[in-house]
Amino acid sequence: QAKAAGRRTYQRYTEQMEWELRQRATLSGALRKVLENGELRLVYQPRLSLRTGAITGVEALLRWEHPYLGLIPPNHFIPLAEESGMILPIGEWVMREACTTLRRWRQHGLGTLNMSVNVSALQLLRGDLPRYVAKVLADTGVPGERLELELTESVVMAKAAQAAQTMQALRDLGVRLAIDDFGTGYSSLAYLKRLPITTLKIDKAFIDDIAQNRDDKAITHSIIAMARTLGLYVVAEGVEHQAQARLLMEQHCDEIQGYWVARPLDPYRCLAFLRNWRSGVARFEPA
Ligand code: C2E
Ligand code: MG
Ligand code: MG
Ligand code: MG
Repeated sequence: QAKAAGRRTYQRYTEQMEWELRQRATLSGALRKVLENGELRLVYQPRLSLRTGAITGVEALLRWEHPYLGLIPPNHFIPLAEESGMILPIGEWVMREACTTLRRWRQHGLGTLNMSVNVSALQLLRGDLPRYVAKVLADTGVPGERLELELTESVVMAKAAQAAQTMQALRDLGVRLAIDDFGTGYSSLAYLKRLPITTLKIDKAFIDDIAQNRDDKAITHSIIAMARTLGLYVVAEGVEHQAQARLLMEQHCDEIQGYWVARPLDPYRCLAFLRNWRSGVARFEPA
């Protein structure tokens, strides 16, 4: 009986592994043609200033719409794209697409809007990223100051010396640099201080229970306090409820991003959202 059950479990286990391997192979194959087939698009998630109630910018988030595999989330294909090196041309497409959209929106009176773009380790370590960014900025007429690149903690930590030069070259273009998913890796703020970073994005994991959990509340409080000491701008990710927003405002967090403000939106809807936005401060008034 137990043996049979064990065998069934084992069988399910291997079937699951085989399925995952096949899935990976299918995705990797399809990924090679993603650009020529025009299957990528960007959605944009607004960021709200807790100081002014204004929307200060948007983060570009990648979507892959495959004709028969459907919508594939970035967490599924970006690791594959990194393994194969496809992330390099994909990353260039993202940079150009995001800046082209910003250029269009700037013509609609959104001249101070910022665009954040996620950049993967490989792109940063290649070293020619600043040259490419400079070209896209020149081609689209977007000032470097309007662009922010989001880097993950792990890269910056593992290859700090190598990354630091590239980071400084980007800063020289006026581009701001954010550490994404802050708190999930190993970096200490003291260490980050040595890098030309401008912004910290506190990972959603710390925000989730901030309104209920005293430890989480204390953690965000001290991250914000230390960031302030180091002159870094702080953004909280994954804010889904008003109670979280309120608390972060009390803790003097600069900006928030999350479903409570807006979901990631397609460019058309995002433009409508941005043009209709008056002031988010009204949302904090007692219900
Ligand atoms: P990220 O940069 O930390 O982006 C935030 C993720 O959280 C996004 O997931 C966003 O849709 C989601 N999110 C935002 N607010 C909320 C919320 O209130 N609740 C919940 N549950 N989720 C929220 P998404 O779009 O699936 O992207 C996942 C990750 O994939 C990103 O995490 C980023 O690391 C990576 N990624 C996305 N686009 C790109 C890209 O163009 N290039 C690279 N290299 N990575 C990208
Ligand atoms: Mg990000
Ligand atoms: Mg993040
Ligand atoms: Mg994240």
